[in-house]
Amino acid sequence: MDEQLRRKVADLLEFYEELGFAEFYVRQPSPPKATAVSEEPAAGDTRPATPKVQPIAESESPLPDPVFDQALPTPPLNDAAMLQAAIAPGPPPQLLNLFDSPSPTSPARENETLEMIREDLGDCHRCRLAAGRHTIVFGQGNPHAELVFVGEGPGADEDAQGLPFVGRAGQLLNRMIQFIGMKREEVYICNVVKCRPPGNRTPLPDEIEMCSPFLLRQIRVIRPRLVCCLGAPAVRTLLGIREGITKIRGRFYDFQGTKALATFHPAYILRNPREEKVLREDFQKIAEFLKMLR
Ligand code: URA
Repeated sequence: MDEQLRRKVADLLEFYEELGFAEFYVRQPSPPKATAVSEEPAAGDTRPATPKVQPIAESESPLPDPVFDQALPTPPLNDAAMLQAAIAPGPPPQLLNLFDSPSPTSPARENETLEMIREDLGDCHRCRLAAGRHTIVFGQGNPHAELVFVGEGPGADEDAQGLPFVGRAGQLLNRMIQFIGMKREEVYICNVVKCRPPGNRTPLPDEIEMCSPFLLRQIRVIRPRLVCCLGAPAVRTLLGIREGITKIRGRFYDFQGTKALATFHPAYILRNPREEKVLREDFQKIAEFLKMLR
């Protein structure tokens, strides 16, 4: 196999592995191919010609490569077919735990809706953030979205308008959503905390503890295919991962029966525009993941 194709296969295998496909199967070798060769009857011989079986010569065996030596397709395949033959993903991720067996922080409610969760939240004063907020920013978007974005907490613009990601970071998020061929109305956008932390500081653990059960219930009701964690607080809250975002971004994680991908917060990209390339790569992965499930 040439180096370029090998790299393509390796990248694709890695991509599927990150999605949680732990097993790939290779085609068993087909029984030795044989060609029938007719032996010319001798002149005057009236018996039918005897078919003679001849194994295909070793040199004709396609792609004698140690990686796929059990899966040698016959005849040789073009690149695309080769990739398909090499990768046999299992069934798409199942949406189970979060939705079928609610955790204590996401209590079961028959036919719960986002409106019911909003009603439960009420004029929330469960934590100190209530004191400084103008508006609760509950979340916005398609209640049946395949893709949910979870940010950190509302900023000044969001606090003023009552909508998530409507400031500069929101404009960048909008561009990224468009970049993957989607519209903002198709996705659902929310935050770890629903009230603006003073001075846009990072939400504190007790604030997150009070607020995140509502977030989990929202995700449970929406039943997305993928949750995109924007920045470290979302990653910590939903995935319990404390490692730096640079290390763990661009990967797919199991999240209560569905999948989650961690990436940079758009506000970080506004401060570090050179990293936008990386953000685009992660969004490309999101697009590929969703495409694969369709
Ligand atoms: N940053 C966030 O984390 N969330 C918003 O809604 C806006 C900016």
